Amino acid sequence: MSYPFFFTWTAQQNAKPLDIRGGEGAWFDTADGARWLDMGSLVFQASLGHGNRRMVHAIKAQAERLALSYPSAVYPEKVALAEKLLAHAPPGFSKVFFTLGGSDATENAIKIARLASGRHKLISRYRSYHGATMGAVSLGGDYRRPPVEPGLAGVVHVDDFAFMARGEKGAKPQSQIPSILELEGPSTVAAVFLESVVGANGALIPPPGYLEEVRAACDAHGVLLVMDEVLAGFGRTGKWFGFEHWPGVVPDLITCGKAITAGYGTLGAVLVHERVARVFETKVLHAGLTFYAHPLAVAAGLEALTIYEEEKLIERAAGLETKLHAGLEGLRAAFPEVVRENRVLGLFSGTDLALEQAAWAKFDAALRRENVLVHVRPHVGTLMLSPPLIIGEDELDEGFRRIHRALGEALA
Ligand code: PLP
Repeated sequence: MSYPFFFTWTAQQNAKPLDIRGGEGAWFDTADGARWLDMGSLVFQASLGHGNRRMVHAIKAQAERLALSYPSAVYPEKVALAEKLLAHAPPGFSKVFFTLGGSDATENAIKIARLASGRHKLISRYRSYHGATMGAVSLGGDYRRPPVEPGLAGVVHVDDFAFMARGEKGAKPQSQIPSILELEGPSTVAAVFLESVVGANGALIPPPGYLEEVRAACDAHGVLLVMDEVLAGFGRTGKWFGFEHWPGVVPDLITCGKAITAGYGTLGAVLVHERVARVFETKVLHAGLTFYAHPLAVAAGLEALTIYEEEKLIERAAGLETKLHAGLEGLRAAFPEVVRENRVLGLFSGTDLALEQAAWAKFDAALRRENVLVHVRPHVGTLMLSPPLIIGEDELDEGFRRIHRALGEALA
């Protein structure tokens, strides 16, 4: 069937859309009458699951109160959301720049870092994704960048995480960033951009000492550290922000998106430390968006954060880590010849599978027949799970039964 709009990241004839009609909790329904179990939070954003009544009411109530705004406006919910975001950031964070999602959070973090530092170069990793817009995609290092190059000038990629390749697991982590900073001339580098925990490129968890080493290299040269928490933030890894797993590593900027509204509104944010924010007291912040802090998105953000707090869902995600890990180890025990490694942090996991391309396609098709939504990433050889933070333990068990059957089918 052909539709009068584009599907993203695919040749149109290969698109495999789901005709989604609603849902409740960890489940969503499609037009063909199927009920899907969401073990992926759609694309990592639906952390409160489907059909959340509090979210719907908050957005409706906001629409009744105030549905239109403009960038220079002040209204109570905008203030409250900024205060709440800063309350969950490390001490010293003092300002929020609102965006419409994760990609433009990256774009505006680039601008803020360049304007504040007066420098232009940016360092990021090959194993990364920071968004689809031109600046953000230039920072990313995966297959999504080369087709749209040339990108932003001044971006330098490093091959950190190579040491995590199979067979080198015991190797001492050593970032290329300190030496690349020296080679590039550190006084030309505005910022290093990192996902605290690598998301779409394979759920890679930094080894002890890694983020500390990068932070120290940035400090040594007055380079800003931007932590991309678009995917890892708001409880996905069992903390408000992923970098909190490495106490002492405090970024200068934090980019947010996705679960900031649990997917119920189009919102992102850049959280800015006072040491950077103060520059803009006198310097013009050359950045802005018509829909900056749109009331409906802000209402969704405020309610989502309030629900995470009141229902202690960040703690819940941390508590369910053991259960998620056990399920994945069950998969490894059942398929020892293909499951290479499980990485788990909170309710986020990456499982490396030794599958041929054809087997990945069979696995994907079998998962669809099982009506279970997960993230299958053949480009890095990884199956990723990121269930909603509200998922029940029995639902996790059911998800694993479906994944087991699908992998069995793919290997048959
Ligand atoms: N940063 C990371 C780590 C992401 O995973 C994503 C999206 O997947 C983005 C940025 C871009 O966010 P968005 O798609 O909301 O623009």
